[in-house]
Amino acid sequence: SSIPKIVILGAGYGGILTAQRLQKELNYNEADVTLVNRHDYHYITTHLHMPAAGTDSIENTRVSISKLIDEFKIDLVKSSVQEIRLHDKKVILEDGTLSYDYLIIALGGEPETFGIPGLAEHAMSIRSINSVRLIRSHIEHQFALYKNERRPQERINFVVGGAGFSGIEFVAELADRIPKLCKEYDVDPALVNIYNVEAAPSALPGFAPELVDYAMELLTRKGVTFKLGTAIQECTPHGVVLSTGEELRSNTVVWTGGIRGNRLIEAAGLETMRGRVKVDEYLRAPGHDHIYIIGDNSLVLNGERPYPPTAQMAIQQGICCAQNIVATIRGKVLRKFQYQHKGTVASLGKGQGIGVVGSKQYQGWKAAQLKKLVDLRYLFMIGGIPLVLRKGRFL
Ligand code: FAD
Ligand code: NAD
Repeated sequence: SSIPKIVILGAGYGGILTAQRLQKELNYNEADVTLVNRHDYHYITTHLHMPAAGTDSIENTRVSISKLIDEFKIDLVKSSVQEIRLHDKKVILEDGTLSYDYLIIALGGEPETFGIPGLAEHAMSIRSINSVRLIRSHIEHQFALYKNERRPQERINFVVGGAGFSGIEFVAELADRIPKLCKEYDVDPALVNIYNVEAAPSALPGFAPELVDYAMELLTRKGVTFKLGTAIQECTPHGVVLSTGEELRSNTVVWTGGIRGNRLIEAAGLETMRGRVKVDEYLRAPGHDHIYIIGDNSLVLNGERPYPPTAQMAIQQGICCAQNIVATIRGKVLRKFQYQHKGTVASLGKGQGIGVVGSKQYQGWKAAQLKKLVDLRYLFMIGGIPLVLRKGRFL
């Protein structure tokens, strides 16, 4: 009989880890492995807030996939997935079709706009290298336009919707970048506004209150204006309308109000909650023993509530899912997925951060160093010392 075909969709955190582990575990001719990704590079999503604000380069945030996998062992297909056809076990790409015996869906999430009018059309989001390039150049362009028009305030008002980790990390970078842009474009920094709008009564809902206070104080000092307990109700070409009735005029709205699962999954007919699939204990889609769903598209419960979708989760799932596919092929027992929370660290711009590891809380320089360590550890994990040296940020 022919050897099993394994197809991995997406080369983000989950997909790369799965591919690398399969490459390591599988023997020659035990299975055919294909990795499909829209781009020929893997991006380090957890860094995207920096190139988005322009405080770090795009090149530090992406890695060529061919440097991460052995193309003698894994077929890399650079293409966009258009459709997943469960009934005939096929994946339709923009330029071809693949059939599979085992499918790993690791396509990452999409911004959740909750149907808020105008957001999809007029707001930008931090989700890929291309979207981040757009945000960065858009911001610079606003400064240039400001000096060439009659000083329209909306060009130098910046609105970030959502103060979860993505919103807070981005706003912090933006606050670091604005003074530099002001210098470059001869704009008085006192005229620039950065608004962070959050629907919940506090920023970083659910995070340790002392650390939330620390972050708020620091960012307020850096020039961020928080609008808490205030929801964005509409986004227009001229700004946002808030639940208070107030309008914030701005040509730059960045939406970090949450993420949902990839629409391809519900289109395939799998049962979803906000686009995510509640996977079984082995990470498979219920009723489909040969389909694994990992990363932002999977839903794993922590008691009653789902775990938040994180890179940490996607990495651990990638490793477990590769083990389970190898075990299935060899007729061995599968391993139950057990998430191990190693902690949470968020950056607050240059030299600043907050974090919780176990029962310990960190803030300031220590947290910033911890964040760097986590980042370097990931680079080491996927690319060893050479990648750490090429892409690591040490200062
Ligand atoms: P992704 O990493 O998003 O990868 C999906 C891949 O699929 C991408 O390569 C994409 O190009 C590809 N793809 C998508 N659609 C298609 C298609 N149709 N066809 C072909 N390819 C496709 N988590 C943490 O744990 N710690 C952090 O510090 C942290 N920081 C973050 C900072 C920011 C600014 C953001 C936005 C997120 C952060 N997260 C963090 C969350 C984390 O990045 C995600 O949970 C993680 O990336 C999910 O991994 P994934 O494998 O599911 O998908
Ligand atoms: P999120 O869902 O965690 O936060 C979105 C925020 O937007 C929430 O606080 C929500 O109340 C707010 N919001 C929703 N609708 C709104 C509205 N209409 N108006 C104003 N505010 C609104 O999303 P995220 O920050 O993008 O994070 C996504 C995932 O990635 C999370 O699991 C997060 O833990 C993870 N992440 C982790 C890190 C880190 O560990 N350093 C960094 C970024 C993201």
